[in-house]
Amino acid sequence: MIHAKAIEKNAHCQTRQSSVHPHIMSTQLPHAHSPKQKAALTENPLIANLKHVHSIIAVSSGKGGVGKSTVASNLAVTLAKQGFRVGLMDADVYGPSISKMMGGKDAEVLQKDNQLIPVEKYGVKWMSMALLTDEDTPVIWRGPMATRLIQQFLGQVAWGQLDYLIIDLPPGTGDVQLTLTQSISLQGAIVVSTPQEVAVEVALRGIKMFDEVRVPILGIVENMSGVICTHCHQETPVFPQGVVKAKANELGIHYLGSIPLDPSVAIAGDQGQPISLASGPVATIFSDISSKMVAQLQEIEARTTEATESPTQISSDEKHVLLMWKDGSVSEIPFFDLRLACPCANCVNEATGKRMIEAKDIKQGIEPVGFRPVGKYGLQISWNDGHNTGIYTFNSLRSFGA
Ligand code: ADP
Repeated sequence: MIHAKAIEKNAHCQTRQSSVHPHIMSTQLPHAHSPKQKAALTENPLIANLKHVHSIIAVSSGKGGVGKSTVASNLAVTLAKQGFRVGLMDADVYGPSISKMMGGKDAEVLQKDNQLIPVEKYGVKWMSMALLTDEDTPVIWRGPMATRLIQQFLGQVAWGQLDYLIIDLPPGTGDVQLTLTQSISLQGAIVVSTPQEVAVEVALRGIKMFDEVRVPILGIVENMSGVICTHCHQETPVFPQGVVKAKANELGIHYLGSIPLDPSVAIAGDQGQPISLASGPVATIFSDISSKMVAQLQEIEARTTEATESPTQISSDEKHVLLMWKDGSVSEIPFFDLRLACPCANCVNEATGKRMIEAKDIKQGIEPVGFRPVGKYGLQISWNDGHNTGIYTFNSLRSFGA
């Protein structure tokens, strides 16, 4: 019996399937036919490289130019000032500005044991693709290239022991976001928006994407909320006030704080000395934002420690995928039913929810050839008919066996 309704769709897997690199990420199922045999899940090399990183936080925005990199760099510096071990990864491949903002435009990237050594400045270990390319040479980053670069930054930079790895994402919801959420487990995302209604609307799309892939939204930061006059130092609102806060409240998302449009923020960024390095009103705001973020993460961690729905074992017999859950129960899901219930956008119409694959479309002897855990929320299955874009959430898999 197929519980198709319980299967949650993953809206991303159709349009951007080219960004999945099975040779790196697929976990082969070595003995799919031995009865009740455990399929060993080989360790994802990206996850292995990040195993000493406690929390990975994405900083995202709907649009460019809203101050996302400014927030990412200041947050990193602030956390380092607070005594945390911090990394900052510039994943904004289309407009990398971290190296400039962190005052290391000309820093040399060293290699050791086939790994890139991150630059260390202001107590933050950081890496940007701007260090690897010639500034004057325009790089046209097509999806697969950006994907490879992100995988390299995740898997081949010697991040070492970190409390927080802050990732500065490109604006929007493209290949980089997909690669990240499919490759590693993000502990949370911060969304940066300016106060204009249109910017807030665009930011919401990003929030929706993180929701879909079960990345908790730690909160929204409002940037450029009003102008600080350089003479009287008073703040004048430029855009309608309260839009971001109201939206955050409506969605049940934390409003982490608002940063004024202050020329000293831009100057500090241009000089490669994030404003939070020194004390001052904006540094205090960032300190408050980072404390709220840390508190949020701790709360989420406490809530999810027990509740994580990932299976403790994934294996198969001749006809079923077998999933053992934390409580000891086992879901026995027939290959055929699982293939038919594929939630990817090739198999389910994203707009109508109508299933496009039918039983007659499924080949005789269908069976999985590879499993790959995706973040903390699901399992990507590669099939012997060549299909591999379906990411089944753990919750949906659990409901199969009910
Ligand atoms: P994004 O990463 O969203 O593209 P950036 O962080 O690069 O945006 O910011 C774009 C420009 O705006 C930069 O020159 C930056 O210094 C400036 N900027 C960002 N936030 C502020 C602010 N609160 N006040 C003044 N300038 C800002």
